[in-house]
Amino acid sequence: MKFTSFMKFAGFGIKTILFKKKDPILGTVIVTDKCNLHCKHCSVNNITAVIHPYAQIRNEMQILYDMGVRILFFCGGETFMWRDGDKTLRDLVIEAKKMGFLIVNVVTNGTWPIDLPEANLILLSLDGDKEHHNIIRGDTYDKIFGNISKATANNICFYMAINQINKDSVADVCRKARDTKNVKAVSFNFHTPYPDTKELALTKEEKAKVCETIKYMKKKEKAPIFNLISAFPYLINNTFPTPCHQCVVIENGKISTCGRCIDVPGLCEKCGYFFVAEYTLLFKGKFKIIWEMLRTYLKYI
Ligand code: SF4
Ligand code: SF4
Repeated sequence: MKFTSFMKFAGFGIKTILFKKKDPILGTVIVTDKCNLHCKHCSVNNITAVIHPYAQIRNEMQILYDMGVRILFFCGGETFMWRDGDKTLRDLVIEAKKMGFLIVNVVTNGTWPIDLPEANLILLSLDGDKEHHNIIRGDTYDKIFGNISKATANNICFYMAINQINKDSVADVCRKARDTKNVKAVSFNFHTPYPDTKELALTKEEKAKVCETIKYMKKKEKAPIFNLISAFPYLINNTFPTPCHQCVVIENGKISTCGRCIDVPGLCEKCGYFFVAEYTLLFKGKFKIIWEMLRTYLKYI
C-alpha cells in the first residue's frame, strides 16, 4: 500500500473512532448475479442473471466514490462473466483505479482465466481440499488450480466460507495458500445462515475449534492468514456489533448498508463474515484489533 493511501485510511479511522462517524469507506458493486456455478451454500446466484451495463456500473462506482468509499470490491455472481461489448472486468478495475479508488479488489470463483494484474487482491473462493471443495462447488478444483498457475500476477487471496461440509479442511486450505505460486494469503468466513442454508452453519463449539486451527496454522505453520486472531472470540460468540456502517453494497441502483443480506430478518445476529467483525471492532477503537490489522494489512496489500 502506498504511504499516501495509508495516511488517508489512518485519518478516516481516527475521525470515525473519535467522532463515532458512520461514513462508509468500503464499497461493493455487484456487476451481475449471473454465475456458472451453483454452490451448495449460495443463496444469491442467478436470481435475475442480468449482466449490468457498463454505463450503469460506472455510475454506481461514481456514487460510491462520492459517498467517500476508497476501497472498492467487484462482486457477483461470477465477476469474470461480466462483459459489455469489448469491455471486460479488467476495464472496470482499470477505470476504478483511474477514478481514485485506492484499493480495488475482485471476488471470483476461479473457474475463468485470471488476468487482472491491476487488482490489489483477487479473492478466489476455495472451499476446502479437493474432495470437500468439489462437493460444494462441483468438479472445479483442478480447473481452478490450472487457472491460478497461469495467472498473470501474484495477487490472489483464497476466500473460504467454513460450513458443516468443509470445516475439517481448513488446515489444507492454509497450506495451499502458503505453498501455491501466485497466492498471497487466505481469508476465512463462517457460513452465514440464510433461511435456505441454515443447516450448514457451525455451532459455537465448532467455530471455536476452527479458530484454534486457524491460529495454529498462522503461528506454527506460518500460513499467510488475512484475518485477525483478536477478533476470534467475538466471531465465535457473535458478540461483534452489526451491521458495519463503514461498508456499503450497490446492486442495480439499490444501496444497502453492510451487505445485501441486511434485509434478511434476524441474520445479522448470526453473521459469519469476518470482515464485519474486524471492521466494526476496529471502528469501535479496540486497540488489539487496530494493532493486528495494521500489521496484517500492510503485509498483504
Ligand atoms: S461461485 Fe459464488 S455466486 Fe456462484 S454459485 Fe458459487 S458462491 Fe454463488
Ligand atoms: S452484519 Fe448483517 S448485513 Fe452485514 S454481512 Fe452480516 S448478515 Fe449481512
